[in-house]
Amino acid sequence: MDKMNELSFGADDFKVIAGPCSIEDYESLYETAKDLKARGITMLRGSAYKLRTSVHSFRGLGDAGIMHMAQVGKELGLITVSEITQTDKVEYMASHIDILVVGTRNMNNYPLLELLGKIDKPVILKRGIAATYDEWLAAAEYIIESGNERVILCERGIRTFETGTRYTLDISAIAVMKHKSNLPIIIDPSHAAGNRTLVPSLALAAIAAGADGLMIESQINPKDSICDANQTVSPDVISKILQLVPELRLLLKKANF
Ligand code: PEP
Ligand code: MN
Repeated sequence: MDKMNELSFGADDFKVIAGPCSIEDYESLYETAKDLKARGITMLRGSAYKLRTSVHSFRGLGDAGIMHMAQVGKELGLITVSEITQTDKVEYMASHIDILVVGTRNMNNYPLLELLGKIDKPVILKRGIAATYDEWLAAAEYIIESGNERVILCERGIRTFETGTRYTLDISAIAVMKHKSNLPIIIDPSHAAGNRTLVPSLALAAIAAGADGLMIESQINPKDSICDANQTVSPDVISKILQLVPELRLLLKKANF
């Protein structure tokens, strides 16, 4: 299939994006991507610019990471998905990466959103950790009004009083945002859970609730991940989730609420 057609989300499509939190080096990205592809994954995630809470944490490979991602995507025929963190990288990333992600920390970065409205690439807009539905949609409008209608919403957990999970996955967001907008919505169970043992149940809940896709952190050696190791799953978990997608989607269609 044409690579551009593969970029669509919503309607009868259900897409799973998988890959490491951060691009660590060419070899590990390639090996993970190859394994994921063999299991049916067509979209590879991985970040090169990492916005870390601590300045002392690994902050990504930068431009070199984007080059690794572009190369792996080309070699394996995978759609590449990576986070854009600053306005002066929009052009660079748009020329090397297929789908750009606005992370939770940048949902309110309006100059960045406006620039993303001028590119010819889909944009995944993650929900801010304390953003209401309307604030999130208003952020999406910055991109759309600037000329790019290919916005995909991504719920990745919000901050609540609960500390048993990293964030609290707001499953209601799927139905509410479908009611309020025509934009596709995907779920990131990894950052919501913060714990790999919880990722499958959140992923399955998202499918059953009518999400258009998932974005999951996965590596061949999850425990060795430099970033977000605790929430990273091995590719066999991705396989198990993928196997359940058709059945759950069928049930959902039959329910026809
Ligand atoms: C990520 O997807 O790697 C990430 C940093 O996510 P978020 O912006 O949701 O924290
Ligand atoms: Mn991460």
